Amino acid sequence: MPMLDLLRHLPDFRAREVPVLERLQAWCSFRTGSFDVAALEALAKVLQRDFSDLGATFRQESLEPVLRLDGSGRQEFRDLGPCLFWEKHPSAARQILLAIHTDVVYADSEKTAEDLRWVRDGEWLHAAGCADAKGGIAIIHEALLALEQSPLAGQLGWKIILNPDEEIGSPGSSEGLQRAAKKCHMGLLFEPSLPDGALVGARKGSGNFTVAVHGKAAHAGRNPQEGRNAIVALATWLGEWAELPVRFPGMTVNVGRIQGGGSVNRVPDFAMAEINVRVETDGQVEGFAGWRKQQEERWSQREGYRCEWFGGFSAPPKPWEGATRKWMQCVQECGHLLGMDLKVKSSGGVCDGNRLAAAGLPNVDTLGPVGDGLHGAGEKMLLPSLFQRMRLTCLILMRLAQEPDWAGDLK
Ligand SMILES: [Zn+2]
Repeated sequence: MPMLDLLRHLPDFRAREVPVLERLQAWCSFRTGSFDVAALEALAKVLQRDFSDLGATFRQESLEPVLRLDGSGRQEFRDLGPCLFWEKHPSAARQILLAIHTDVVYADSEKTAEDLRWVRDGEWLHAAGCADAKGGIAIIHEALLALEQSPLAGQLGWKIILNPDEEIGSPGSSEGLQRAAKKCHMGLLFEPSLPDGALVGARKGSGNFTVAVHGKAAHAGRNPQEGRNAIVALATWLGEWAELPVRFPGMTVNVGRIQGGGSVNRVPDFAMAEINVRVETDGQVEGFAGWRKQQEERWSQREGYRCEWFGGFSAPPKPWEGATRKWMQCVQECGHLLGMDLKVKSSGGVCDGNRLAAAGLPNVDTLGPVGDGLHGAGEKMLLPSLFQRMRLTCLILMRLAQEPDWAGDLK
């Protein structure tokens, strides 16, 4: 089929609005926070059933628990939900990975499944997790179903990964993502596109760090000189962190949470802080590591204090260059054929696109619907964009199936 024929083979995705939204509503009704294992497992069962019409090989992997610090500095292991894999036509010349996450960040007001809303307001749909990222799951399903029902079925190999831990940095699923990255030529991820419809090009890298300071308790009036105030020590320490962007322009540091102390007439013997660091280049990752080591050494020499460090960079920077840039141009070309002018912007946000790019897989990571108010009680999705992205994704898949060399040698 010549290229223009492909456009004629694209189905009218909006004609399937009713069943698509019914499914999406059902998926959004599970309150799948990153550690809500029961809800993630229940959603996995539903997805396995809903994806069965793709005729792919399905596999579910349980992930290793992750180590976290609780509010009083104790280490605890937290269980993760299942990671879901589908695979079809593994011997086709071109292999593509389609991926997105099943976990969702909820607002504080959305504590139980009953708190979750599903409200249609004209062309906007309001629901927790509808844009980030369960709408993306719908796009993957509809686009692949259309490909498999077309005359091009079998000419493109594909894998799907739906992981349950992206919102906490994919600690359990990153190994599976990397394995798939090695076996595929290119990737599509379905994070929501920006509110103006733009796709994301460059992304910063991100790391979360916990620093815990143990001092020595004492009475605030009787023997304060014998105490070692953990809060004061931590505050001084955090001041050094806040200076980091001066030393490394482009780096951002956010002290997001602080805990410690107790009664006001007692010298506190414990304080901890959780800090997010974002970097633009691999060089900044190295520079930060060197700075951190020095700080740790200096502070370990302070009499009466003990410091602990946890965490690291969970997503390396995703630079806007090379194969990733070339693959984006292919996506833009398909958008152009559909009358979409897809702009590209950089973002400080990270996603599995960072991890896949670092594992050598060129990928475009914002093919989900247009979303706004993400990670809050106002999350919403622009309905027409959901169906547009299905058309776009389906055209990309069909083009690769028809002309395996279309995107060139990306890897
Ligand atoms: Zn997301």
